[in-house]
Amino acid sequence: MNELDKVFITHLHVDHFGSLPYLYQFGGWNGRWEKPLTIYGPSGRNPEDGTRHMVEGMLQMLSWHQDAFDVFPSGNDIEVVEYDFKDDGGVIYDVDGVKVSHWRRSHAKDGASAYRLDWTINKEESLCFVWTGDGRPTELDIEYGKGCDLFVTEVQTELVGLASIVQGVPAFLTRYTIDTHHTSGYAAGWLANQVQPRLFMTTHMEFDPYYNNETVAQVREHWKGPYHFGAPDMIVANITPDKAWVREGIIPDFPNNRAPQFNLNDGEVFRVPVPKNSRADIQEQEIRDLEIDESLYYPEGYHPELLKEWPLDRDLIVPTEVLPESMKRGMGEKQRMVDEMRKAHGLEPRSVHRKSSSDPYRDTREDNTKDQ
Ligand SMILES: [Zn+2]
Ligand SMILES: [Zn+2]
Repeated sequence: MNELDKVFITHLHVDHFGSLPYLYQFGGWNGRWEKPLTIYGPSGRNPEDGTRHMVEGMLQMLSWHQDAFDVFPSGNDIEVVEYDFKDDGGVIYDVDGVKVSHWRRSHAKDGASAYRLDWTINKEESLCFVWTGDGRPTELDIEYGKGCDLFVTEVQTELVGLASIVQGVPAFLTRYTIDTHHTSGYAAGWLANQVQPRLFMTTHMEFDPYYNNETVAQVREHWKGPYHFGAPDMIVANITPDKAWVREGIIPDFPNNRAPQFNLNDGEVFRVPVPKNSRADIQEQEIRDLEIDESLYYPEGYHPELLKEWPLDRDLIVPTEVLPESMKRGMGEKQRMVDEMRKAHGLEPRSVHRKSSSDPYRDTREDNTKDQ
């Protein structure tokens, strides 16, 4: 989670950005200390309908949390790239042969967008992935998605009567929701047949046994090519120039956080930023005085040296050469992987840090930079 530093939001329905507060704060806490979280998302018809407004609102909502987490070395930088939702085909990301473009979708309200990711794999070839987000198929989906290797769209299975019985929702409400917001199973298959992807996937759907066969049947009305559910969660699609296949994601039974990742190559350092708040800044002494005396619960003979105050008033900077070998391996793993991948693609090495500074020992506290 601390490595996820770019998020592309299709639209501002809460099922499409609801995890953002957690990703933002806990990714920072877990070690995304020197990198901002960058949120790409559409504008809306009015400023308050845009992604920037949503993020500003989120930051307001997180006021207590963020202040409390600032007793840790948390990474709280967040950047918003709000693009003009009307700029169909506009490129919003273009780095090292990886390109992201967007177009409008018909989904109840202005602003809903689809994304296309193109990435070059060698001098001659590139691959392409479309994620439509929500919406009813339009000509734009065909124009910008045509021939893409992997095309993933939302789908709503047309089982209006059955859904009404099972879920207790009036049938007309489901009918209206599909017809104003969504891609029906038949429409999804029809769209796939126009786009002719190498692999077609549907997601954002009911994933129940009594639905699944019908979903396939509806998609198959028009689409005879490779088709897979983008469900359940953790489905992984693998795409190469010759092959396309789908597998279940491999996740550990007992997950753990990844160490903060640094560039520990020559001249770089391991840095733990100084927290912005001390506990005394944001908490009354009185409640701390009421804390139970630790000697009452630690067993006889065991009383660790407690760390109740942050021990430093500036960033902790550790030269790489004095780090234990195991820490160096763990914290430099991403840099090694990125270096290898970039080399394989003929690209220059680049730091996984926020910025490769000419002075790795710089003091990052703004108020102190003036004095030095
Ligand atoms: Zn939606
Ligand atoms: Zn949705």
